[in-house]
Amino acid sequence: MTSGTLLLEARQVTQRFRLPNGQVLEALRDVSLSVCEHEVVALVGPSGCGKSTLLRLFAGLARPVDGAVLYRGQPLEGVLAAAAMVFQSFALLPWLTVAENVAMGLEARGVDGPARRDAVARAINLVGLDGFEQAYPKELSGGMKQRVGFARALAVAPEILLMDEPFGALDPLTAENLRSQVVDLWRDPATGVNTLVVVTHSVEEAVFLAGRIVVFGSNPGHVREELENALPYPRQERSPEFEDMVDRLHAILTATLLPEPVPTAPQRLVPFPRVHVSEVTGLLDHLLTRPGGKGPVFELAEDLGVDYDRMSAVVRAAEQLGWVTTPGEVVQLMPAGREVMAMDDAARKDATRARLAKQPLFARVVAMLKESEGAVEDEEVLADLTIYFPFIPADSLFGTIVEWGRYAELLDHDADAGRLSLLGLPEGSAETRGEA
Ligand code: ADP
Repeated sequence: MTSGTLLLEARQVTQRFRLPNGQVLEALRDVSLSVCEHEVVALVGPSGCGKSTLLRLFAGLARPVDGAVLYRGQPLEGVLAAAAMVFQSFALLPWLTVAENVAMGLEARGVDGPARRDAVARAINLVGLDGFEQAYPKELSGGMKQRVGFARALAVAPEILLMDEPFGALDPLTAENLRSQVVDLWRDPATGVNTLVVVTHSVEEAVFLAGRIVVFGSNPGHVREELENALPYPRQERSPEFEDMVDRLHAILTATLLPEPVPTAPQRLVPFPRVHVSEVTGLLDHLLTRPGGKGPVFELAEDLGVDYDRMSAVVRAAEQLGWVTTPGEVVQLMPAGREVMAMDDAARKDATRARLAKQPLFARVVAMLKESEGAVEDEEVLADLTIYFPFIPADSLFGTIVEWGRYAELLDHDADAGRLSLLGLPEGSAETRGEA
């Protein structure tokens, strides 16, 4: 499938983790994957199928329990010096300037003095941040922060750039812009970066970037399928050929994603997707206009102009609230969803509050608040979330809790004091109201 010099190779790699409760989790089983020089490889698949784990193995940040990871035919020893990593969370140190943050990787590799200064200046220039050398991360937009993340990776002139959802935290326009620039960096021989491996949730992003798309399945993580993408660079997002490839990948992913059962066990803590209230009501509104109040996720995504993954997240949120169900591949509006859309704003908030209070994640936060006389420190909630959802950024979950909790007038958040408080429960009885 691949031609050219073999650069990275995972040979029948299995990776397991021991969880705090003593259970062993198999994140990858018998995964074999090769990456050649000058390739861009995208790793896609449902959350938790081991994509990041494989990326970390390639970076030499961890060792597999079974199988081997090789670089140019040699087993990896320690961190792979030929690679640099870019993460979704910008991973910048707030007390360091842009230039100091960019210099970190060089420092770790013992590059000093003028060589370090030159490399930093070059990397900052490559990502278009000239003039911001002395700025601090808090003075930068999300897109600029991620540029710093790229500059830090580029400063060490890596042969391979390993990227873990590098555009995931950015608004769509910024992400699109930065994506094109990454392709330019890769095509420009002057940067030295000649191979990219990118983990992404976005089908469009995979098709835009990659020459080969590797689709993972879960439980345990394994390679399901590889898709060659021969579209010439630079790629035109809205061309028919591009759309064709997107459709093909969608079709493969549907087969991968849909059989996964939605967790229904009542005692289990289920995270709530990071989507906005308006997106869920937008979906219900749209379903109302469709015959039978239903439609396949792809079509809904297309109708509403959002990508498939985003639409799936919105659907999951609506499903957790009991407003839609998803038999087979179809999203079906439920009677409760119809009712809620017929309500006025106040009644809709009440209905949402009643539903949220039953959603396991919100129910847990509400239980915490009740035990603490209606208010808890953010830190406490964040610590709790970190324990229950160790692999979902707690601040992201917290953001969702605050947004939905506030909308439904279930919770309030005082950002200055760093406290979350209980506003009211569905019953609305006087003693359930907070003191604040
Ligand atoms: P993906 O990137 O596809 O979302 P990950 O590679 O992050 O998946 O995770 C695969 C599985 O391994 C998940 O179930 C995750 O919870 C688990 N996992 C990842 N890293 C660790 C770790 N350090 N300790 C325990 N479990 C982990």
